[in-house]
Amino acid sequence: MPEPDPRDAKAVLRERYGYTEFRGDQEDIIRHVVGGGDALVLMPTGGGKSLCYQIPSILRNGVGVVVSPLIALMQDQVGAMRQIGVRATFLNSSLEPHESRAIEHALVGGDYDLLYVAPERLMTPPFLALLGRLDIALFAIDEAHCVSQWGHDFRPEYIQLSVLHERFPSVPRIALTATADAMTQREIVDKLRLDEARRYVASFDRPNIQYRINVKDRPNQQLHAFLTAEHHADSGIVYCQTRKKTEEVAAFLCEKGYGALPYHAGMDAETRREHQQRFLREDGVIMVATIAFGMGIDKPDVRFVAHMDFPQNVERYYQETGRAGRDGLPATAWMVYGLADIVTSQRFIDTSDAEDEYKRVLRGKLQAMLGLCETVTCRRQVVLRYFGEELAEPCGACDTCLEPVDTWDGSVAAQKALSTVYRTGQRFGVAHQIDVLMGKQTERVVSLGHDGLSTYGIGADVPENDWRSVFRQLVAADLLRVDTSGYGTLSLTPASRGVLRGEQELRFRRDPTPPKRAGARRGRGDRAVLGDVADHDVDLWEALRQVRIEIAQEQDVPAFVVFHDATLRHLLEVRPQTLAAMRHVHGIGEAKLARYGERFLDVVREYGPALRKSVSRIRRPDWPDDA
Ligand code: ADP
Ligand code: ZN
Repeated sequence: MPEPDPRDAKAVLRERYGYTEFRGDQEDIIRHVVGGGDALVLMPTGGGKSLCYQIPSILRNGVGVVVSPLIALMQDQVGAMRQIGVRATFLNSSLEPHESRAIEHALVGGDYDLLYVAPERLMTPPFLALLGRLDIALFAIDEAHCVSQWGHDFRPEYIQLSVLHERFPSVPRIALTATADAMTQREIVDKLRLDEARRYVASFDRPNIQYRINVKDRPNQQLHAFLTAEHHADSGIVYCQTRKKTEEVAAFLCEKGYGALPYHAGMDAETRREHQQRFLREDGVIMVATIAFGMGIDKPDVRFVAHMDFPQNVERYYQETGRAGRDGLPATAWMVYGLADIVTSQRFIDTSDAEDEYKRVLRGKLQAMLGLCETVTCRRQVVLRYFGEELAEPCGACDTCLEPVDTWDGSVAAQKALSTVYRTGQRFGVAHQIDVLMGKQTERVVSLGHDGLSTYGIGADVPENDWRSVFRQLVAADLLRVDTSGYGTLSLTPASRGVLRGEQELRFRRDPTPPKRAGARRGRGDRAVLGDVADHDVDLWEALRQVRIEIAQEQDVPAFVVFHDATLRHLLEVRPQTLAAMRHVHGIGEAKLARYGERFLDVVREYGPALRKSVSRIRRPDWPDDA
């Protein structure tokens, strides 16, 4: 058969996906793989990795075999492909033997362009034998960082994937991941034997995600205020550290009228599956989860990710927040954090049975995450710098950019605090230190005679909250250490001496007092994605969503598989009055036009063509392909 022409890639993009332009390196990657080359693709979540193997699978002869660790998602991935008219299928343990046999038979007959399969199945002798009888277009290894033994997503079966290369040396392989750091990259190349692969590293910036980190005060209330002001009807993920807390926070949100569901590894598999399905398929569900939830969750319209507890390193923070806003529309990464979080994280490291060297690595990573929390400069710059990328200008969109943080000369306050820790014998926690500094007559202060210390009452002019902030920042800067074995006792560190002797100037951030409606967007808080639009636009928007959910239910697929929010928004803006005009709407390809065009057209027509006035009032969407 003749080699496929890579120029056809553009036609596939337009006709199947309904997109006009490739993003970033997509076109180069596709050209390279179509031509038979291996590739290692590092792109942030939402960057558009899937197209990089889907389109070559369509263009090349034979079937593209996609290795993915997440069985639960295969059905939806395949569903989405079928929606756009691609012959896709999956093989995993959820199928009955006769179903598998039928699919295998069809594969041998060349009926498919894409096959999704779990790594453990791929490696079985019968499956390898089946592969031997197929024309294979390529192997795509998704979530390739699962091969990394240092990472938290390690999957032993991934290591064996190098077998593919030995058995099928002429089939191109493309490995993809959203994990960026250099160590993981090296492990992927090494373990998967991708030495010859061309590397494509995209910028890791996610311009549509707004980063915000607040001081933890009354976390549930803070979360509630945030959701009410900005994400009332939106779907999102709330991360908590413990299983118990996911249940508590979910119950709290339900009480406040939100559709929230818990998710953690302690729940039975059936309930977990049901919650995940509801999150994917219904509109506006909030998943309150431990880190057990999320990898590979391919939901494009997650409008916020909230952290009620502290992700222990920047990689995890970035990976978890990255699940927001895959569709390129505005999304929020919101977090609350306080001293207790630092202590928990340190305890986690101290009590782990890892080697000392590894603990040192973990402490370094924790320190970087604390730096991100305490920074007074642009958060996006800090995050990107961590991944080795320099952003020339502050982003102008994160909390520190929008509301610059005041700093103050904390040298004297720090001396007072450190010297109180010293004089009380390095045997007490934060609360007692503050009591002494503020000159309180608590039972403990009196019974220990701490009201006789020279630092007693020398901090009475500073509010208690500010002292708490000082202690937190001293711990974050490693000028104080918290005993993690249980009592939260504070002690000095080698670095504290210089500060105590007044040799080192210290600047502290002045924690902003949380505004009543923290950072509320103008306009309809409950439809943040729409921006500030006229009432009749909101009615049309709701009508479009209604048709979408009806179709989704008929087809038994998630609503976003029918059309993304970005497509509905573009429909709202353009208001096409004919099928031909609808062809130019973002995300409407030939298959979807034929299937659903009429039904959406009926709704749009009812509302008439776009009025100039109303159009100009819609915020210009940040189309992903403008990036
Ligand atoms: P990733 O796997 O990297 O997280 P996806 O492949 O799921 O990202 O793509 C994220 C979203 O962007 C999807 O909704 C996808 O349809 C969309 N997308 C991908 N490429 C393009 C493009 N060239 N133009 C417009 N949208 C795109
Ligand atoms: Zn910024």
